[in-house]
Amino acid sequence: MKLVTYSDGSHTKLGLVKNDGVIDLGRHIAGLPSGMIGLITEWDRVRPRALELAEKLPADAPLASVHLLAPVPRPGKIFAIGLNYADHIKESGLPTPQHQTWFTKAVTSVNGPFDPIQVPLASKTIDYEAELVVIIGRRCKHVPKERAAEVVFGYTAGNDVSVRDWQMQSGQWVLGKSFDSHAPIGPWIVTAEELGDPHTLGIRCLVNGELRQNSNTANLVFGVFDQIAHVSQAMTLEPGDVIFTGTPGGVGAAFKPPRWLKDGDKVRVEIDRIGAIEATMKSEGAD
Ligand code: ZN
Repeated sequence: MKLVTYSDGSHTKLGLVKNDGVIDLGRHIAGLPSGMIGLITEWDRVRPRALELAEKLPADAPLASVHLLAPVPRPGKIFAIGLNYADHIKESGLPTPQHQTWFTKAVTSVNGPFDPIQVPLASKTIDYEAELVVIIGRRCKHVPKERAAEVVFGYTAGNDVSVRDWQMQSGQWVLGKSFDSHAPIGPWIVTAEELGDPHTLGIRCLVNGELRQNSNTANLVFGVFDQIAHVSQAMTLEPGDVIFTGTPGGVGAAFKPPRWLKDGDKVRVEIDRIGAIEATMKSEGAD
């Protein structure tokens, strides 16, 4: 199943994608939780009914007529792994990490899948990072790698937008990764049961139609389940938590000279069996 958070113009709703349309889950399921984190938390109860709706009902509205929001608009936390594709490690000029390298993105950086991304007042060195994004399904800790699939609710596409000068000017990446609008995710969550193996997905980033990143999640240095096993030793993961799983080579910073995202650029992330998100870059403060 593909699950969305969307606005019909006046209300924020949860939906199920069917062909080119959306089924309004709240209209058909009594007592539906009000947001995606609640839906994920209660998924075992809701899932049979959602499956039935997906099979029997026509869509309530065309997808094109609604505004898709980030599927989890305000996750409890966003963790992201750095330096996790060999070609990206090489182009970064940094040594191959001995340990998984983690940072956070502020939860306020979440952005809708087709909403503008800011070129902030504070910097012009704005970069893209196409990433497979994991949505956690269950509260868990100390998850063994062999059982990590059980705690994944689903997958979505993300752009780990990075302000490179702010990221690299100190030893701590978090501010450069946390600017407003710099964590677009979507367009929907593909449930883990529908997606299948997350390590066989073509992943691409295009800027103004030009292919910049083109890889496959088979090339992840630390796979999705290794990542969950590792971070869950440190912290409790909760439904709706978001994990960015790393980006392949081809980022703008690696070009000579670097090719930063600028006002008006169109940046698109595509992942096989999930879909695409696409944003126009927009200078902060310009309307
Ligand atoms: Zn990244």
